[in-house]
Amino acid sequence: MNQQEWNKGLYVNGEWLTLAETIPVQNPATREVIGSVPDGSVKEAKLAVDAAHKAFEAWSKTTAYERAALLERWHQVIESRLDEIAFVMTMEQGKPLAEAKGEVQYANSYIKWYAEEAKRIYGETIPASSGSKRILVQKQPVGVVAAITPWNFPAAMITRKIAPALAAGCTTVTKPAEQTPLTALLLAECAHEAGIPAGVINIVTTSKAGEVVDVWLDDSRVKKLTFTGSTPVGKLLMRKAADTVKKISLELGGLAPFIVAEDANIEAAVKGLIQSKFRNAGQTCICANRIYVHEAVKESFLQALTQAVEALRVGKGTEDKVEIGPLIDDRAVQKVQHQIDDAIAKGATLHGSPVVEGSTGYFMKPVVLSGVTDDMVCMQEETFGPIAPVSTFTDDQEVIQRANATPYGLAAYVFTQSLTKAFYFSENLEYGIVGVNDGGPSVAQAPFGGMKESGLGREGSHHGLEEYLEVKYISLQFV
Ligand code: NAD
Repeated sequence: MNQQEWNKGLYVNGEWLTLAETIPVQNPATREVIGSVPDGSVKEAKLAVDAAHKAFEAWSKTTAYERAALLERWHQVIESRLDEIAFVMTMEQGKPLAEAKGEVQYANSYIKWYAEEAKRIYGETIPASSGSKRILVQKQPVGVVAAITPWNFPAAMITRKIAPALAAGCTTVTKPAEQTPLTALLLAECAHEAGIPAGVINIVTTSKAGEVVDVWLDDSRVKKLTFTGSTPVGKLLMRKAADTVKKISLELGGLAPFIVAEDANIEAAVKGLIQSKFRNAGQTCICANRIYVHEAVKESFLQALTQAVEALRVGKGTEDKVEIGPLIDDRAVQKVQHQIDDAIAKGATLHGSPVVEGSTGYFMKPVVLSGVTDDMVCMQEETFGPIAPVSTFTDDQEVIQRANATPYGLAAYVFTQSLTKAFYFSENLEYGIVGVNDGGPSVAQAPFGGMKESGLGREGSHHGLEEYLEVKYISLQFV
């Protein structure tokens, strides 16, 4: 693949704009610059809203069947370019190629699912209290949607927003993360090729996130904000969206507890933990962050876990059989190292070493920490890196209290072979998603999202479509 291809324009009103100011895109596995994109600013942000606002007029009036056909076509084009998109994603984000392919397929599954679901935006009729009246409820698209996305899932975080928005009849302006703009622009290329009309999807790449997003938050033509990213930025945007009373969906940070009960199948629990904890080098919002293992199975669990972790292969995502790619940047490496140092200083035991010798990229080897206590930073702050901190418990009620003692409430995991315990844990954990004997619960047809300070609203499933729909009540009287 030619590197020249990765100097892309930003996408507004169906056109590719280049600017004198550009942002370099870096490969986190080598720190090499692999391309560049325009550094958009206020002007491009405004052009994008103008285009989305204009396009809304016609797009919102298309039939669900027309929108479904275009989404279906977008899905097909992405599928035909899957290898190319996955390769670019690995180059700019670092994740192993197999994971990047998996992410493109997962991202694309939302487009397919919402193509189908567009046809099921049903209204209601409600019995009236007078014979001369009828009560009708219709669903209508909310309007122009502003979508802000993070770097950890450069394709999926975009399609989880744009696919339901388009299915509902909304038009969109999107600001992808500065670190991973190329994947976003490739998705826009596919949409363009699929014939999605000009102005329905607009992508503004920028290093000035605040400046661009403020334009959208201040503009009353933008009716909804959908954001995925950290909790502090989500709170900031929520405050700013208040001035024009926008609808909001927020997918924020997590601090997932992973509970291994006394009767767990240990092999399945270790497998589930590896899947949940180490995918994307631990940089996922639903990643297991705090591992609580029942005292009775601590030894066998730790032994199996440390063996499995030692066997994980670290390297550039483009290399064969690699399972752990680099972290996104140096700040991420420092944060994870700080959590390890803090845990050791407070009495934890480190199994393995995070150091990768002689590498220019942002690599860290996955490690296990045992003897972990709740006062350690790794149990209180989202790690976003490849460390598995293991603590123990003896009482189910006590571990639920510890698991819930955080402002976060995105995902939780429980491994048990008892149906009674499965219900007890899942019903008492204050989390939007609970994986019972399942380390990978996210799919397009299920509602994904958090409680408490992990967010508002849901993505995926028919719940994810409702986020882009207004409810209109029509009271009809016969005269
Ligand atoms: P981040 O909050 O730093 O950035 C997210 C997006 O917001 C980026 O596009 C960024 O440029 C933009 N942004 C940052 N500051 C801004 C500002 N002042 N005004 C407007 N936009 C701004 O998060 P990140 O580091 O890119 O992503 C990691 C975080 O995302 C983690 O906390 C993770 O848990 C969370 N996340 C959550 C989910 C979920 O579904 N709940 C999914 C993936 C990631």
